[in-house]
Amino acid sequence: MVTKTVSHCNQEIFEWCWASEHELIINPHWTSCYLIDGLLIDTGAPGGVEDFRNFINSLGKQKIQACILTHAHEDHAGGAHMLQTEFKVPIYASERAIPILKTGYNYPEYRQVAWGEGGVLPVDVELFPNPISSMSGKYTFHVIPIPGHAPDQVALIEKQQEWLFVSDGIQTKYKRIFGKTSNIQEDISLIYQSIQDLDQFTERMRNLIIFLPGGKPFGKDLIKEKLEEIWILRQEVQELITQGDSVDEIVQKIFGDDDIFASFTNGELSKKNLILSVISWIKTKDEL
Ligand SMILES: [Zn+2]
Repeated sequence: MVTKTVSHCNQEIFEWCWASEHELIINPHWTSCYLIDGLLIDTGAPGGVEDFRNFINSLGKQKIQACILTHAHEDHAGGAHMLQTEFKVPIYASERAIPILKTGYNYPEYRQVAWGEGGVLPVDVELFPNPISSMSGKYTFHVIPIPGHAPDQVALIEKQQEWLFVSDGIQTKYKRIFGKTSNIQEDISLIYQSIQDLDQFTERMRNLIIFLPGGKPFGKDLIKEKLEEIWILRQEVQELITQGDSVDEIVQKIFGDDDIFASFTNGELSKKNLILSVISWIKTKDEL
């Protein structure tokens, strides 16, 4: 596995990143946790628990007072059980994430390649206060539901500092893999709507910093870029439907051959799922 710790904004934010080094993963697929004045956002993957424990121990005097999970996926909630049982840190999550986290779950083998084995262990989680304050009270985070990547997905925003933590709510490219089954049920129309909500929420924030997993923050432009990217994709699909193309033809014309992920994941993650989600978005709109 690979880990890195990156600090942002005059060392006010510590981002701990973790990725598996499995031979099947060509480029590191990062998951990130952020520590801001005693408040931890997310807990990494089950495969990274040992490294996560080392990270917490390396903090020395710096305490984690509370932890908030952005959604229940294993690469964000994987270390929550350990954090609670060994470090007695209270864990918070959204209403929709709570039942999933309280029971815990296992995930398919192909995801174990990226996030390790052992599943997400049950954790005694509570609904987050909203807004939620950091330990000394110097930062206040508003929690915004941004469903689409996952129904329970939330983002955190610090309005004064103009910091936005979106977790998996925004992907750097909507041209790769897209979930449909299992517990990765992505919906591109909801993703679009959630990014629009974030756009409105951050309208006046000129110096907005957007944190996505992987250690490299983005500026405000990312929001507009993603809205444009998804809308262009929708228009392309709509045009091809009008021409009478089949789903497979549309996938082929827009993305070329579906990548290795589709066969590796039995179709659970694929480009075709993204096209299918765009088509159902177009159809729902047409029916209105
Ligand atoms: Zn996720």
